[in-house]
Amino acid sequence: MNDMNEIAASAADRTAVRITAVECIPLNVPFKVPFKISTGAARPVVETLIVKVHTDQGVTGVGETQAWRRQGSAETLEGQINVIKNHFEPQMIGRSPFDVNAIMHGLNESMYHSHYSQAAVGDALYDAVGKLLGVPVYQILGGKTRDKVRVAAVLSMKGTVESLLESADEFFEQGFRHLVLKIGVDPREDLRNAEALRKRFGDEIALRVDANAALDYDDALSLLTKLEPFDIETAEQPLNIWNVDGMADLAQKLRMPLMADECVATDHALMEIIAKRAASSAQTKVAKNGGIYHIRRLWHMLSAAGMGINPGNHPATSVATASVAQMCGSWPGPLMTGVFAVGISGALAEDIVENPIRHENGEIPIPDGPGLGITLDEDALQKLRIDT
Ligand SMILES: [Mg+2]
Repeated sequence: MNDMNEIAASAADRTAVRITAVECIPLNVPFKVPFKISTGAARPVVETLIVKVHTDQGVTGVGETQAWRRQGSAETLEGQINVIKNHFEPQMIGRSPFDVNAIMHGLNESMYHSHYSQAAVGDALYDAVGKLLGVPVYQILGGKTRDKVRVAAVLSMKGTVESLLESADEFFEQGFRHLVLKIGVDPREDLRNAEALRKRFGDEIALRVDANAALDYDDALSLLTKLEPFDIETAEQPLNIWNVDGMADLAQKLRMPLMADECVATDHALMEIIAKRAASSAQTKVAKNGGIYHIRRLWHMLSAAGMGINPGNHPATSVATASVAQMCGSWPGPLMTGVFAVGISGALAEDIVENPIRHENGEIPIPDGPGLGITLDEDALQKLRIDT
């Protein structure tokens, strides 16, 4: 009995911790080579926001989000800092980081569609709780279900078939067996690229295509039909985010499965995809979908709908990569091979932690340290931050 009382007392001590400040650190993290998808110019940097949730017990939780502008989001670092400092921090000061559900529910109620900002804050709360308990986040999410998770490589758009094959060869040699081909600018080029990749690797790779919402209905139907002979595993977000009816129609007409990405921002958006059978799977991303707190809910919905769960992410540092790894490491059911490690698999030129996550033969080991399992490199932060 005494033992139980002691355990209860020590649990009460630990949860008595209070949040003292929420700090925002805006960074420009450079790509190794400017990153090109179908829409917009090639990006030289990822605009990254690191959030630190400070506590009165000296433990600091860390989370990452990005200001990723494209269809479905108009995020800026300045806007995110405004949301977090002026609207979120006042609601969080003095509360326990263990109150993740209550805090996140409150933030979501107070600022609709603020998932990009909530992502870093919520993940920092999970990181703080894990560090306070001395356990990895996967333990808080229900325990470990796997030691590692296979990831896909993303082929940035290149000028020529030769340079595309060169980067595909590199990924293949490193152990990747899932390649994502960006499409949607020139259909002849898309067909040439898919044919060349299939010829090069035969059935040793799974090939996915991603149009990043760039095609209209007729072009998508034409291009994806022509791509069918190349055994496309899935076609990601062919249409504009508002054209869910078009996606549902395409899904009926094509043999290849469709994946929803940009059009899934909230649980309500996913409800519509499910109801209209507009995709066979959906990709979640830390920033787009609001971090661990919101993404787990989407995964449960996808699982209930019999849809594939694709653990994705924007190109991110090891911090947000760890967030997805912790979710994967505690997820009991099947997962598709996602692109959540694209940032740390060669796309980004810099990382910001002392213990970077590295793929091993195309697989990401689930971090075992407390919290997200990463330790910030303060020198790297100072070098990349843009507000000093
Ligand atoms: Mg995508």
